[in-house]
Amino acid sequence: MEKKQQEFVTHITPKEEDFSQWYTDVILKADLVDYAPVKGCMVIKPYGYAIWENIQKELDARFKATGHKNAYFPLFIPESLLRKEAEHVEGFAPEVAWVTRGGSEELAEPLVVRPTSETIICAMYAKWVQSYRDLPILYNQWCNVVRWEKSTRPFLRTAEFLWQEGHTVHATEEEAEEETLKILGIYKEFAENVLAIPVVVGRKSEKEKFAGALRTYTMEAMMQDGKALQAGTSHNLGQHFAKVFDIQYLDKDGQLKYAWQTSWGVSTRLIGAIIMVHGDERGLVLPPKVAPVQVIIVPIAIHKEGVLDKAREVYRQIADAGIRVEIDDRDTQTPGWKFNEWELKGVPVRLEIGPKDIEKNQVVLVRRDNFEKVAVPMDNVVQAINHMLVEVHKGIYDKALKMRENFTHVARNFDEFKEAIEVKKGFVKAMWCGERECEDNIKAETGATTRCIPFEQEHIDDHCVYCGRLAKHMVYFARAY
Ligand code: AMP
Repeated sequence: MEKKQQEFVTHITPKEEDFSQWYTDVILKADLVDYAPVKGCMVIKPYGYAIWENIQKELDARFKATGHKNAYFPLFIPESLLRKEAEHVEGFAPEVAWVTRGGSEELAEPLVVRPTSETIICAMYAKWVQSYRDLPILYNQWCNVVRWEKSTRPFLRTAEFLWQEGHTVHATEEEAEEETLKILGIYKEFAENVLAIPVVVGRKSEKEKFAGALRTYTMEAMMQDGKALQAGTSHNLGQHFAKVFDIQYLDKDGQLKYAWQTSWGVSTRLIGAIIMVHGDERGLVLPPKVAPVQVIIVPIAIHKEGVLDKAREVYRQIADAGIRVEIDDRDTQTPGWKFNEWELKGVPVRLEIGPKDIEKNQVVLVRRDNFEKVAVPMDNVVQAINHMLVEVHKGIYDKALKMRENFTHVARNFDEFKEAIEVKKGFVKAMWCGERECEDNIKAETGATTRCIPFEQEHIDDHCVYCGRLAKHMVYFARAY
């Protein structure tokens, strides 16, 4: 047995040794995904898909509570529509997959597989928006999109990914800006309260903003290897699309006016973030609110009389309380093996129940994040589990926050900057003049990009960390996924 256990665990490469291999080991061993026959695409297996379903459920409820409705638009976009907004097509053209033939016929007009749906949706909005009474339009769609990415990695960056894309239309600039920020607020609250991932929020630079947007807001997370990840974006599109798609409404004052728009999205990338923020040497550590299995019951001495019956009784009690629970009653594996397997799969709480526990009318609960063990009276099991799920969430959030803090540095000059990026890794807070040239040079010399201009500004220095000219903003820089 001992050898078997060892083998099981040693299949995961230690994080410190090779973080990227650790990630690959974890996603494959935990059975989240498999590689597909198409380069850059992944198969999301049931355990991984269940995490996505929980993400969807949590976010969807938040979107609906703020007045949004779901709709569905076509996968294909006619070339002429994609080409309408100049910046947009320039940004997306290199990543677009084309359909040029249907059956044996060449298509009269090539179609693109949506990389994002602004253009096809705007074409419809132009039809639907007539008067101020039609506004606002607050639609969201859950779908797949395709971006022909050069380098890919499961969840974090794939050629096809699942996401939600919100597309809204408003009468005024203020309303559009309010919507953009409201959604960013929802994303942040969701990241922190559901995924237990602390995020920095702010605005993207002109260089890093969404192609065709007026302004892009972002939430940025820090991974355990010191690289940042853009976890979600919310764009104020201004009137850029409204003008080229002719989305105009007759206002109360009898004037015809161009509408204001937003779009926003998060994707299956969030699952990659969960893994890279919370995972440990034993595998996944899942935030309780999205864990497909929140409690795994492992009966001890399964063949002893009464053990399985009692385990099933406890199972019923927990399931009836609305907690996602499973019982591992396989008689082909020892409890030790099962412990390892469920730890690898990141289940937040393990419940052990054996003859001795039954004698004492108790069960044993073990936390996945810190392996703390408590014995709880049988009558109190639901309450104790609910409490433990909350504690696990807090525990992993605090740990992630501490990790991010340790990976956040301040640089007053470019030597400090380089040292922080190359040696210490993580976020570097530094002043920036706002010029594209400095941003490009910093990237070329260090590999770091501007992640965001945070809403919470700090005054670190008067001068740009690169060129020494007067600084405009404090920026979070980092190497990123
Ligand atoms: P965008 O429309 O480019 O703002 O993308 C919206 C969100 O989708 C981004 O903030 C990322 O979190 C995510 N995303 C972008 N590209 C990919 C990709 N290739 N694979 C997975 N997620 C992505």
